Amino acid sequence: MAGKFFPMSQFENTLNYAQQMDEQDPLKEFRGKFYFPDFHEKTVRYFTGNSLGLQPKTTVKYIAEELEAWAKFGVEGHFLAKRPWFSYHENLTEMAANVVGALPIEVVITHSLTTNLHLLMVSFYRPSGKRTKILCEAKAFPSDQYALESQVKFHGLDLSEHLVEVAPREGEQLIREEDILAKIEELGDELALVMIGGVNYYTGQLFDMKTITEAGHKVGAIVGFDLAHAAGNINLKLHDWGVDFAAWCGYKYLNSSPGGVSGMFVHERHAFSPELPRFAGWWGYDKDKRFQMEPGFIPMRGAEGWQLSNAPILGMAAHLASLEIFAEAGMERIGEKRDLMTAYLEFVIEDISNKNADRCTFELITPRDKTKRGAQLSIMAKGQGKALFDALSDLGVVADWREPNVVRVAPAPLYNSFEDCYWFGQLLEQAIQ
Ligand SMILES: *Cc1c(COP(=O)(O)O)cnc(C)c1O
Repeated sequence: MAGKFFPMSQFENTLNYAQQMDEQDPLKEFRGKFYFPDFHEKTVRYFTGNSLGLQPKTTVKYIAEELEAWAKFGVEGHFLAKRPWFSYHENLTEMAANVVGALPIEVVITHSLTTNLHLLMVSFYRPSGKRTKILCEAKAFPSDQYALESQVKFHGLDLSEHLVEVAPREGEQLIREEDILAKIEELGDELALVMIGGVNYYTGQLFDMKTITEAGHKVGAIVGFDLAHAAGNINLKLHDWGVDFAAWCGYKYLNSSPGGVSGMFVHERHAFSPELPRFAGWWGYDKDKRFQMEPGFIPMRGAEGWQLSNAPILGMAAHLASLEIFAEAGMERIGEKRDLMTAYLEFVIEDISNKNADRCTFELITPRDKTKRGAQLSIMAKGQGKALFDALSDLGVVADWREPNVVRVAPAPLYNSFEDCYWFGQLLEQAIQ
């Protein structure tokens, strides 16, 4: 597929070129499957699919079907609805597993992301003897930081000693993978858990999850990832990489409604371990005997055994609508377009930066190597502050600002176009003026 595109060395920062790229894009019809925000006098250029993905046009139909089933059947919808609510999540499992490179038994869609991280750490962070420490990345997403801190404290352990962070070196923005690997080795048999964001939310840096997992396992630790910024963005192979557990949210690249449902991955090797400690609820109970309501928890096999509650069907319906689009497009093609379009946006920004070097320069924090990033580019605007971002917003660009001077933009392969990237450059240039 990639061969159908122009080679990158020929990128041009012109409308005509961007439109030709769109013309040749194998995923071009997918843009029409989404609603684009329209709250502005100017056309909105949406680059925050990494924060809240756009709404598929099919979402309303899937939700309406469940509202109708509720109206028609009341409680009997659990069994009589076209997709019975009792087992609704099963409609999502296989497609979600394909998105993250997992076996169906390893995946369940349930709860929300931070909840799932806690539930997984209850099972997989079990400090004992010497092996008590967690390794994470410095400046992790705040919710992950709080989750990790509270897990350490929950076990009555001292935070400063047990939560070990790997930070970028002095004067650098990115974390060197070699530093993560060295820290894993150094901690050795004191390391209980490695828990890292697969793609860093701030810099867009993608970590080599396979290598980190192998290094963690080599010293006897458990390895888990937060994939909030990776699911639906990166070509993941969680099963093959041997990752122990992971969780992600459905509402960023996965376009499954604000605060929508989350995914959980538990590797097959833990799938048949009823003895793993866990916080249990009835929806994780052996399905055939769930309604016998007997005391004594018997978990379902696989990731489903971590479910607590009966599923929020409307949120699950939104996720189903989106996963069907991912299944149709395929992560393979999504990944090819992601690399090309992100490279094009990078080229456009660089061109604008060079042309306006007297006023301002843009430094890319995100790795330039496409194997070390996904769709997100984090740009540091040197010589400019929030006024630049406000001007950009006034021109119709929806992006994301982080103090002191970082703009995050993510062209989402399913619905962004090369023309969007071209216009981003034009509007950025206007905003500088
Ligand atoms: C978006 C995001 C979250 C959000 O968690 P919720 O429980 O869905 O609010 C957590 N962690 C990371 C790394 C994120 O990017």
